[in-house]
Amino acid sequence: MMELAFLGTGNAFAAGGRYWSSFLANGRYLFDAPPTLLPHLKRLETPLTNIEVIFLSHFHGDHFMGIPFLFLEYVYLTERRDDLFIVGPPGVEAKIEEFARQCYPNVTREAGYRRRYVEAQPGADQYVNEIAFRAFPMNHVPDSLECFGYRVPLGDKTVAYTGDTMFCDEIFELADGADVLVLDCTYSEGEGPEHMGVDDLRVIRKRVAAETTIILTHLNGEPDITGLENVIAARDFGTYRFE
Ligand SMILES: [Zn+2]
Ligand SMILES: [Zn+2]
Repeated sequence: MMELAFLGTGNAFAAGGRYWSSFLANGRYLFDAPPTLLPHLKRLETPLTNIEVIFLSHFHGDHFMGIPFLFLEYVYLTERRDDLFIVGPPGVEAKIEEFARQCYPNVTREAGYRRRYVEAQPGADQYVNEIAFRAFPMNHVPDSLECFGYRVPLGDKTVAYTGDTMFCDEIFELADGADVLVLDCTYSEGEGPEHMGVDDLRVIRKRVAAETTIILTHLNGEPDITGLENVIAARDFGTYRFE
């Protein structure tokens, strides 16, 4: 069984009042960390010490700016003892630690737990806190920003997440063997720059295995998914279970 809980499903502009995209798998594995991370983990009543690994797709603000608030919580309110793992693009440790200190100077001080960083290295299996995962280079803002998709087996189910990306062949490597593919579908009509849209979704749905459920996020509106099998447009605070 795998359970995905969406903390948000919107694009960077919070279109239509949707919150920024992020989801939590099995209450332990977080995929992206938008500014609303802490309030939304609390709203979902997630025990904050259950967060084991945070996978960061890239360093756009809607995907990582919530992390300092989690560190703040662990300094002042919620006692944490277990290591917290953060997976992200190369340079993730310096980037996140420095950003957190700019938000709150004391937030990276000794607080009884360790933060351990893992840099995405596409091409082979990697391990984080005893789970295997694979990172895939995505194609979001070519030449200026490294972006990654992640495929993570969790028990008997496997989740794959594109982060932000335009259509690229790596999406099909990422989706290979996944039970669920969480997909950037920013454009609810047609297509556009730096992200995918419904036109890309229609091509991807044909090429990805029919049994792989595709969940759409990073939405700028309500996508028209009529005629598409096994596709879900995620909703803020929606929880989806896969038996
Ligand atoms: Zn984004
Ligand atoms: Zn982005």
